[in-house]
Amino acid sequence: GHAPKGDDAIRQTNDDATISRLSAANLGYFHDPFVKYFVRRPSSNERRRSPLMNWGTYLRVTGLDELVDRFLGISVADEQDPSSSNAIETAKQILVLGAGSDTRWWRLKERGKQPAQYFEIDFPEITSLKIASIKKNEQLSRSLGTIDISSGGAELHSQAFHILPGDLRTFHPSITDALVKSGFNKDIPTLILSECVLVYLDPSRGDSIISWCSENLRRAVFVTYEQILPDDVFGRMMLRNLQSRGVDLRGIKEYPDLASQVARYISLGWDESFSVNLNDFYNSSVSSSEKKRLTAIEALDELEEWRMLLQHYCFVWAWLDRSKSGFTFRSF
Ligand code: SAM
Repeated sequence: GHAPKGDDAIRQTNDDATISRLSAANLGYFHDPFVKYFVRRPSSNERRRSPLMNWGTYLRVTGLDELVDRFLGISVADEQDPSSSNAIETAKQILVLGAGSDTRWWRLKERGKQPAQYFEIDFPEITSLKIASIKKNEQLSRSLGTIDISSGGAELHSQAFHILPGDLRTFHPSITDALVKSGFNKDIPTLILSECVLVYLDPSRGDSIISWCSENLRRAVFVTYEQILPDDVFGRMMLRNLQSRGVDLRGIKEYPDLASQVARYISLGWDESFSVNLNDFYNSSVSSSEKKRLTAIEALDELEEWRMLLQHYCFVWAWLDRSKSGFTFRSF
C-alpha cells in the first residue's frame, strides 16, 4: 500500500507508540498489563522491537512516570492561608494532549494513585478506537465505573476519567470549552502531559496551547517529551524517515534544542522551565541496579548508536503558581 498523508499519517504514529510500548512491556522492561488491549493486529513480528528501541521506550515511559509521580506527590499549601505551613491534600487533575492509546490512567489507578480528574484529548478517529477497546475489555472498563459514551462513540465520560475528541490545532475555544463542561477545574493543580505530540503541530499552534494553560490555570505543570536536534546526521535521518511516511515534525524547526525548548515555556508565561535529554537522564537518573536489570533483559551492543539516539529525545517541564501558595516543581 502507499503511505497515508497528513493527519492520517500523524494518527498512525499512535500505532507505532503503542506497539513499542507492547514490545517493551512484554519483555518486562516495565509493568503495563493494559497496553495489549489497544493493539489491533499484534502480529508476532510487529510485536518485538529492537533492543535499542525497547530501552528507549523504557526511558520514555519511566521518565514520564517519575515526573507524573512528582506532581501527584506535591503537597499543596492551603491557598487561603499560604503562610501557614499546613500542607493540605488538594484535588489534582491531569490533561493529556494527543493521548492516543496511552494506558497511564489504568496504571495509576492500579497503584491507587489516580488524580481526582483525568482528561485525554485526541482526534475522533483515535478516541473512537480507544473507546471501542474499553467497551470490549472488562479489565479496562471495570475500573471506570459507570461510563457514558457520546459523539458517535468518540467521547467518553466516567466519574474521574474522560476522553474528548478534538483537534489540538483549535484548542481554544472548542477543546477548552468542552473540558470545562466536563469538569476540568482551572483552579486546582493541573499537569498537562504532551508525549510526542506538540512536535507534530505548527509551532504557533503549540504555542497557543502552552499560553492558554499559563494564562488560565492557577497552579500547573507542563510536561513534554519529544524529538530535538533535527540538523545533525542522525536528526536528518530521523526526519527523512518520518517524512517518507508522510509525517513532518513541524514543531522541531522553532524549538530544535534544549535551550529553545526551555525558552519557549518561559516566554509563554511559565515561572520556570527545565529540560534534559534522554542520554543525560539515563546517566544521571537510572540506578546501576536498574541498568543491570535492563541489560539482563536485552544487552545493547551499539553503545554509540544508543548515545546518539538518546540525545535526540528530551523531557521538558515547566511550572507556574499564580496563587503564590508555594507550589513549585523542580528537577528530577
Ligand atoms: N501520547 C501518545 C503516546 O505517547 O503514546 C501518542 C503519541 S502519537 C506519536 C501522537 C498522537 O497525537 C496521536 O495519537 C495523534 O492522533 C495525536 N495528535 C497529533 N496531532 C493532533 C491534533 N492536531 N489534534 C489531536 N490529536 C493530535
